[in-house]
Amino acid sequence: MHEMMVAENIVETILAQVQKKSGKVTRVVISCGQINAINDEALKFAFEAIAAGTICQGAKLKIKHIPLKAVCNSCHKKFNFDLYEPQCPKCGKSDFLIGDDVPLILEEIEFEKK
Ligand SMILES: [Zn+2]
Repeated sequence: MHEMMVAENIVETILAQVQKKSGKVTRVVISCGQINAINDEALKFAFEAIAAGTICQGAKLKIKHIPLKAVCNSCHKKFNFDLYEPQCPKCGKSDFLIGDDVPLILEEIEFEKK
């Protein structure tokens, strides 16, 4: 299960960055691209399971999906690529260049206030 590995990665990264004395993690924000899109619910579930027993236990996971940027080859319009409507919003052609997908990034870790 892809989400399980992603969740493991997230928790490991947090634990590596954060010292125990920082306190409990209450909220984690990650962002990811579209092509390797993960299932939010499955990831939250996996995160909860893996976070159990660590300082991340009970932390809320927020997942931001960053849209892919595309540039139309005909009219050079820049737009956010939509997997469900893969065409230029200006001229309607489906001849365009897609930018690099955004990797999964750990954006923010919030701690319990003491
Ligand atoms: Zn166009």
